Amino acid sequence: MAKNRRGEISGAGEIRRWMQALALTAVLMAYPVSALWEREEAGAEVQEEVQAEVREEIQTEAQEEAQEGTSGVRPRVALTFDDGPSPEYTPLLLDGLREREVRASFFVIGSNIEKEGGEEIIRRMHEEGHLIGNHTWHHVDLSGLSTEDAWRELEMTDSRIREITGEETDLVRPPFGEFPQGLEEPDKLYVKWTVDSRDWVTKDTQEIVRKVVTDTEENDIILMHDCYGTSVEAALQIIDILSERGYEFVTVDRLLLD
Ligand SMILES: [Zn+2]
Repeated sequence: MAKNRRGEISGAGEIRRWMQALALTAVLMAYPVSALWEREEAGAEVQEEVQAEVREEIQTEAQEEAQEGTSGVRPRVALTFDDGPSPEYTPLLLDGLREREVRASFFVIGSNIEKEGGEEIIRRMHEEGHLIGNHTWHHVDLSGLSTEDAWRELEMTDSRIREITGEETDLVRPPFGEFPQGLEEPDKLYVKWTVDSRDWVTKDTQEIVRKVVTDTEENDIILMHDCYGTSVEAALQIIDILSERGYEFVTVDRLLLD
């Protein structure tokens, strides 16, 4: 057999081995492509599963941390609703609050209690642990009234609520945020707000939700109105979003007095 390179591979056995090698290469080239493809696909799936698990873990940790805070106390905010009770919308809000085990504060207009179903709504608010505050009898600007008339606006509303719930209303939200002049009522607490949802202006659920969840921070008092369907829907979405971020909803007296 020739000793040159060509001669070395030109024997019948050599050629057969080469043919086998070529065939194997062809198989290897065809087969592993699909095998690798499958392995990559499987790898991607596993990777996705792991990432989803990690994401979930991080989210849970973040939620737990947010809920506990560094001191173990969740940041608190208060939802307050003015101008009710509304026979049409307040019961829907109360249903949503009960479902979410959230307590809110209602600054009611005395004359609205006299509307059909009003008394029952006040009783329900009280039974379900919400705070009931005073928003005057006629929704009037207290700063423009005589001391006597301002006192009457508050007292009429107070006594009507007391008749129904058996309890005093200690908190007053003055309509338009205007405080009465010279009215000495040391046992009353006048409560304004720190976040204005502007729900009665926009009447747009998504706009109200966006504004409130953007503006709200710890210890904020959120102003809304339970006499619009858009406000009720927005309030429940706000609760869901802020609860997810770790906030606890409390009645406004707890923010002021605790
Ligand atoms: Zn009002």
